[in-house]
Amino acid sequence: MTIISAPKGYRAIGQASYANDAAFSLVRDSEDRSFLLVQGDAKGFVGTLEGEIVLCPLTLENARALARQFPWLAPQRIPEGKPSFGFGDRLGMATPGHVRSLTGYDVFPIFAQQSVRENDRTGRSFAEVLTDATFGVFREGYDQGFGADADHLKNLKDAEDAARAGFTFFTCDPGDHVQDVETLSSDQLCTAFNALENAKTWQGQYLDRTFQIGDDLLLRFGEEDLYRAGVKYGRAIEHAAEMYFGLARLLPDGFDFEISVDETESPTTPLEHLFVALELRRRGAKFVSLAPRFVGAMEKGVDWRGDLDQFKADLLSHAAIARCVGGYRLSLHSGSDKFSLYSLLADATGGCCHVKTAGTSYLVALDVLAHKDPGLFRDIAMFSLAAFAKDKATYHISADVSRIPPLESVADDGLPGLVEAHDSRQVLHVAFGSVLNSSLGERLVSAILEVEDEHLIALAAHLGRHIQGLGGELHE
Ligand SMILES: [Zn+2]
Repeated sequence: MTIISAPKGYRAIGQASYANDAAFSLVRDSEDRSFLLVQGDAKGFVGTLEGEIVLCPLTLENARALARQFPWLAPQRIPEGKPSFGFGDRLGMATPGHVRSLTGYDVFPIFAQQSVRENDRTGRSFAEVLTDATFGVFREGYDQGFGADADHLKNLKDAEDAARAGFTFFTCDPGDHVQDVETLSSDQLCTAFNALENAKTWQGQYLDRTFQIGDDLLLRFGEEDLYRAGVKYGRAIEHAAEMYFGLARLLPDGFDFEISVDETESPTTPLEHLFVALELRRRGAKFVSLAPRFVGAMEKGVDWRGDLDQFKADLLSHAAIARCVGGYRLSLHSGSDKFSLYSLLADATGGCCHVKTAGTSYLVALDVLAHKDPGLFRDIAMFSLAAFAKDKATYHISADVSRIPPLESVADDGLPGLVEAHDSRQVLHVAFGSVLNSSLGERLVSAILEVEDEHLIALAAHLGRHIQGLGGELHE
């Protein structure tokens, strides 16, 4: 077996791995650019020859070549029987920390998870997101498998792009096709329902029918309930089914498909959930996960707020429907920092649940900077505040900038407090795209590389608190 050594001018990151008489390891050059070193048979890799070694840039092509040597590097579908957890990584640097957060827990990770919106804001592509996650997994030698989630897909074309990049999990967000019914009068609602292609079928199938959901829940569609569900979700269901069958043509060996309606105006009622799930099933769209819009304030980057008893009752209904219609996961979006909910979710679903996070990892990076590089943190905070009016538009948040102290009055040792406090935390959270697209983006990335160990330790600790809430400790 060959023992790999980094050529002059490069330093090794992590351990080397061996397969088929070749050795593989990650290195960085003096400018902190990362490469994969291959010594031995380098067939399928693209790079430059340096003596006995091939120096490969971290591209999707090379990630795929590496996954042919180490099959655990290829994203895979979520196995049944354990909770799953999505780690969005907007910087493309967090996967090693995410891997470490799983230590001791039996939770299936989705290390590559990004929406088109996030990619637009961060200037990344599905291919880059998957590439960063793959090399992060390789670096840690995590061989337990992971998934790749193309989040909040609005159209089939984007879903197909993600499929071609190698994603395995597709989150369909038919939100653009969800119709707001709150403003309709009873007459308007009735007219709108009767104009639907499926009006007759749905009347036959649902009207005044009672559905026994598990032992404790009886759901019945009265006229108004059915009209509301049909008008609100009718087009969204067709859209989701089209995306599903489009993907099925491209990926005949199967894929994970999630329906998310979490970004709608009003909470998803149990009746609406049941209706959407049954209609997708009736069309043969096999989804593995469904994200309702839960009750209460599910804001980005902070804990959930609202009436916990109401949340629990609502959650139990959604969980019972998921079990009864067909064993799909109940998915919690905007799942960052929802510490009061994880164990409730895991208990209600018997672990058949999924949580998505993204922003909280970016905030961990900022928290590390607040401790280690207060100058840069101040610049980022200042910039984020200035961009807030524009950035908050597409987010569900309640930050009030007037409650944030003037930054010049905050001493350096008070800066981490800004990452903690509700208002400033949300301001920092929503500005990620503006920050990463400005000259601060590069400064942030190189500053984090400088304090990489602290960054990964902080990620492992913070995401570990999330994972811990889902339970499922591994016992030796
Ligand atoms: Zn979502």
